[in-house]
Amino acid sequence: MSPLAGRTAIVTGASRGIGRGIAERLARDGALVAVHYGSNEKAALETLEIIRERGGRAFAFRADLEEPDAVDTFYAALDAGLAELGQGPEFDILVNNAATSGSGRLHQLTSEVFDRLVAVNVKAPLFLVQGSLGRMRDGGRIVNISSAATKHAFPDSLTYAMTKGAIDTMTLALAKELGPRGITVNAVAPGYVATDMNARRRATPEACAALAALSVFNRIGTPADIADVVGFLVSDDARWITGQYVDATGGTSL
Ligand code: NAP
Repeated sequence: MSPLAGRTAIVTGASRGIGRGIAERLARDGALVAVHYGSNEKAALETLEIIRERGGRAFAFRADLEEPDAVDTFYAALDAGLAELGQGPEFDILVNNAATSGSGRLHQLTSEVFDRLVAVNVKAPLFLVQGSLGRMRDGGRIVNISSAATKHAFPDSLTYAMTKGAIDTMTLALAKELGPRGITVNAVAPGYVATDMNARRRATPEACAALAALSVFNRIGTPADIADVVGFLVSDDARWITGQYVDATGGTSL
């Protein structure tokens, strides 16, 4: 039997990159997957196509997480998508994956960029969890996508790293808060994964080789490398794991 049969999973930022990989994996495991996206509808529809071609169930919904009313928009669109399938607003799994980068070094930082990163990477995940409380079934799962940038100095993207540090702190506190309901909360931290987010850092073969060399396996990660870790954490097998920072970096800088 499929391990997530009968469960409903929400993956934020599932139109591209790691989020798409997570959506594919959870759908393969039998979940109905709500594919959230910010603006790239075409990419979100591609995610749906991939899932449906493999016999999975999914629908897409849009909410720009930078907007002040992001959480209301998010849950209104999610509820509408679930209602179209004849389902109520309850769900079992929330993967806070959507994030934005590009903060640059200290001297490059502007107040606008800081506010954008905090809104999308910190405020939205926190308030999405708050908004999920009346909807998530007991025994549910929350996975927050963090980054190796919280354990290794990353001055190239100072504010981005700071927002991911907030994700780690939030994960720890929420695990304690939601434990009595049997809900686990964990953070998964990728190292470099080949996605649009770091396309500029992979512009030349030499740059790719340098990033690959950070891992003991001498390659850059794939979305599936991260999705498979998330797939485990949301499964029943991971019921005794909560409040953890799970390093999924391929042994970066060991
Ligand atoms: P990506 O390819 O750039 O995709 C970002 C996703 O987030 C897209 O689905 C995008 O939606 C969504 N998103 C961005 N801004 C949004 C907004 N304002 N409102 C709503 N949705 C928004 O990123 P990725 O590399 O897959 O990263 C996924 C997660 O892994 C992030 O949390 C990132 O910090 C983390 N991470 C990535 C790496 C890496 O090397 N790639 C390393 C460590 C951690 P649209 O398609 O609609 O724009």
